[in-house]
Amino acid sequence: MRSGLPGFIQRLSEAGLGEISLTTNASRLADMAEDLKAASLARVNISLDTLNAGRFRDLTSGLLDDTLSGIESAVAFGLTPVKLNAVLRRSSWREDVPELLGFAAERGLQVRFIELMRTGPTADWAAGEYISAAVVRDWLQTIVSTVPILRSPDSPARVDELTWTGHLLRVGWITPHSNPFCDGCNRLRLDSSGRLYRCLMDPDPLPLNDLMTSLPQPELHKAVREYMQGKRIPAVMSTAGTMASIGG
Ligand code: SF4
Repeated sequence: MRSGLPGFIQRLSEAGLGEISLTTNASRLADMAEDLKAASLARVNISLDTLNAGRFRDLTSGLLDDTLSGIESAVAFGLTPVKLNAVLRRSSWREDVPELLGFAAERGLQVRFIELMRTGPTADWAAGEYISAAVVRDWLQTIVSTVPILRSPDSPARVDELTWTGHLLRVGWITPHSNPFCDGCNRLRLDSSGRLYRCLMDPDPLPLNDLMTSLPQPELHKAVREYMQGKRIPAVMSTAGTMASIGG
């Protein structure tokens, strides 16, 4: 992680970027939540695929307790609404999904279930572990009634509201494979090398960092505009890049 993150977020905020949120595995959030809130961070999305400590370690090489402490601090310092991002896996969703629903409901968090992307060197493994969100949502609807919530057209998640263990809970479904949301996509990504991606699946990023030092402002703006005009819905949902390197 970038050192000096709170100061960086403070500068982004002062540049007038509007609401700033952070997607994180929360492994160091317990120590940083207070500083991040003071630096004008609005809220966090936290990756949490399972509440099983062994599976968590297999997936992340990290410690579940660190992430759980990070979630606690995020709530305590008002980085809310906290949204949990959970990637669905065929082999474990029947245990993980009910546990995550209970965990989120009891703490007033939102949870979003995400279909596994078949990308990078783990594409074959991902194909075997993939399960459609529709299967999980169908299962959920055999247990509770769900009410779909209206969402903004550029939101990647379709959201249901339901009651779980007596608590009102919002559950999002992010379905890049079974029901892509590319037509409303307004996302841009900048990786840690300063390359700009108009799409997660695009193999052709713009070397923004280099252009900023080599081009005067008008040419730089022109280059970014032309790059963005080439944003297309991808023909296939796969990429050789890893999600971790692009921030997917
Ligand atoms: S695949 Fe590309 S266009 Fe589709 S939602 Fe993802 S980033 Fe947006």
